[in-house]
Amino acid sequence: MTSYQLDDDGVVVIIGSGAGGGTLANELAQRGIEVVLLEAGKHLTADDFVNDEWGGYEMLSWLDKRTSSGTWRVAKDHPLTPSWSCQVVGGTTTHWSACCYRFIEDELRARTVYGEVPGTSLIDWPITLADLDPYYDLAEAKMGVTRTNGLPGLPANNNFKVMYAGAKALGLNVSTGRHAINSVPYDGRPATIQDGFTITGDKTGSRWSTLNVEIPRGLATGKLELRSSARAVQIEHDGAGKASAVVYVDAAGVTHRQKARAVVLAGNCVESSRLLLHSKSGRFPDGLANGYGHVGRHYLRHLIQTVWSVFDKPVHMHRGEIMGGMIDDFVRHDPARGFAGGYYIEMNSMGLPTTAAFMDPGWWGRDFASVIEQYANMAGIFMSGEDMPQAGNRVTLTDEVDAYGVPVANIHYDDHPNDLKMRVHGYKTLTSIHKAAGAKRSVEAPAYPASHNLGSNRMSARPEDGVLDGNARAWEVPNLFIADGSNFATGGACNPTLTIVALAIRQADFIAGQMSAGEL
Ligand SMILES: Cc1cc2nc3c(=O)[nH]c(=O)nc-3n(C[C@H](O)[C@H](O)[C@H](O)COP(=O)(O)OP(=O)(O)OC[C@H]3O[C@@H](n4cnc5c(N)ncnc54)[C@H](O)[C@@H]3O)c2cc1C
Repeated sequence: MTSYQLDDDGVVVIIGSGAGGGTLANELAQRGIEVVLLEAGKHLTADDFVNDEWGGYEMLSWLDKRTSSGTWRVAKDHPLTPSWSCQVVGGTTTHWSACCYRFIEDELRARTVYGEVPGTSLIDWPITLADLDPYYDLAEAKMGVTRTNGLPGLPANNNFKVMYAGAKALGLNVSTGRHAINSVPYDGRPATIQDGFTITGDKTGSRWSTLNVEIPRGLATGKLELRSSARAVQIEHDGAGKASAVVYVDAAGVTHRQKARAVVLAGNCVESSRLLLHSKSGRFPDGLANGYGHVGRHYLRHLIQTVWSVFDKPVHMHRGEIMGGMIDDFVRHDPARGFAGGYYIEMNSMGLPTTAAFMDPGWWGRDFASVIEQYANMAGIFMSGEDMPQAGNRVTLTDEVDAYGVPVANIHYDDHPNDLKMRVHGYKTLTSIHKAAGAKRSVEAPAYPASHNLGSNRMSARPEDGVLDGNARAWEVPNLFIADGSNFATGGACNPTLTIVALAIRQADFIAGQMSAGEL
């Protein structure tokens, strides 16, 4: 096992081993670059995972306290866990549904295509789809995304058959969609056995994660050292303003300082902004790389909402892969709908306890029970829509300090009028699909804690508009990079992980190129 010295200043230090960090670690190691990967969580294996939604959630999730404010309902329903991510080697790729869609060109030019949307901080991405496409190809190949590279789609389960019937009746374009879940054996991993629990820790390895694909391959190069249970608490810089070391606390509570040639933050949006804001100095009094005041701002979480419907006959929606269904008719921006941006429709299913908990927190009594007791006859349909960036939607530090001496993060989010219009449109569409399939009753469920956390250290074409350039390198700190979804300039409508992975591969090329040119 490779081991680097703490005073080795030739290593790239990556903070966070999830979609962005785990992928980048492997990609850099494959290019011969020495990497130390710091991960706050434990190194679990498939044997540790449990086929139990709540048990898996508790085992894998980032449960450290956060607080929340703003008009979004999440602040009321989930005030201490407003965002949903993991703290474990592999990050949230150990606990995801694996839907994989690409941004479309219009979404990368949101400000130009949507025009001015008052109250938003919309910008265009500093990169185009032509820049991203080759990396999407690489990401899909490594993740084994269904319906790409000749891989078949996931099979239809009952929940999908309901969605399909409704969509076809309304003339919509429906399929089981694209997923980083093996529909057939691929890349040394088995096909899914459709047990429905791979979302909360995949025991079979049919689903791509950085835990089961990227990190083992990176370790095999001899260039990557993984340090699990290693919580980064500060990024330091030298007199020239370059990142020079990462301070972290190990499982025994001992503090270390790992020197670095370059530092990459990949802590999943909220934690990355939190660490930058906390890494203050005389040179960066408002936080590292925050000279323009954008760190933590423009936070995005997608409009994610589900409609649960009850049917005459059993559906048993928990059987099979939980999100194997997709409709893309509403993705494109269409001003005639009265709002900017678009949304994907996807399938959703949850176990009984989770469905009951998330259906409408606070709802109880006979009416609620009359829905829940028909769980076996229930189907779920879901949307992921583009929310509007707003400067005031942001991650900030509170006065409360955690066990590592780092201030607890607050997430403030106010719904924008555009978001509210899209929400109404989306609920109506989701309900109409189920009604067309014969639903007896439909319930519009509010958003659960944010699982798509994006934008709070965004890329921009000009330093005045964001934190990072088009390679997700900090405008103000030339050897500091971000590899998680906080680097998104806008959110688009699609689930973000394919894009996080594509950007991480692209970033690996950039970092390797800079190193060979002697510029990093
Ligand atoms: C239930 C659920 C379902 C989802 N389904 C989908 C889906 O179908 N499709 C899709 O595209 N996306 C999905 N997502 C979202 C997806 O999982 C995330 O977008 C993705 O994993 C984010 O990648 P990341 O690299 O930003 O962060 P993560 O994968 O969360 O990794 C961040 C890592 O950084 C570590 N870390 C944080 N702070 C520190 C620190 N200070 N020191 C050391 N380590 C630190 C964390 O412990 C974590 O392991 C889902 C998420 C959830 C919760």
